[in-house]
Amino acid sequence: MKALLIVDVQNDFCPGGTLAVPEGNKVVPVINSLMDRFDVIVASKDWHPPKSIHFDKWPPHCVQNTPGAEFHPKLQSARIQQVFLKGTGNRDDGYSAFEATNVDLESYLKSKGVSELYVTGLATDYCVKASALDARKRNFKTCVVTDAVAAVDVQPRDGEKALEELKAAGVALVTSRDPI
Ligand SMILES: [Zn+2]
Repeated sequence: MKALLIVDVQNDFCPGGTLAVPEGNKVVPVINSLMDRFDVIVASKDWHPPKSIHFDKWPPHCVQNTPGAEFHPKLQSARIQQVFLKGTGNRDDGYSAFEATNVDLESYLKSKGVSELYVTGLATDYCVKASALDARKRNFKTCVVTDAVAAVDVQPRDGEKALEELKAAGVALVTSRDPI
């Protein structure tokens, strides 16, 4: 069984948000187009308290119960079967979806018989990378869909470097045009 993981496609990470990923909104139609190919569709959300040490490193974003923490309005979020909330503590970066505190992602996927995880969303160089590396560590066959992710690129090429690091860790890089 394969699952689609949609990482942090939230308003604050899209253009107009407080920590926008350049062209972050462009992943939305690609992710929507992938949904028909999966029986299990899950998503993570950055879900920070108003005060967090995480905001020493980043502008405040995705604060719990604010519009910035909502999914992008064009994402077909009604099709998401479970949302995993991460970064929920005030000392917690929560880059990886496997750090979710409301539901344990690994146990959830195993309970659904999932062995293959396709990772999409924002941002390539932080939460997508951390989630895909954690999936590999937990022995899921892991793919990143490269046209369904976008990078913050705090430094130029951070996104490309993240993809190289993922490949070296045994994560497959595919595109939405590949047979998934
Ligand atoms: Zn965050």
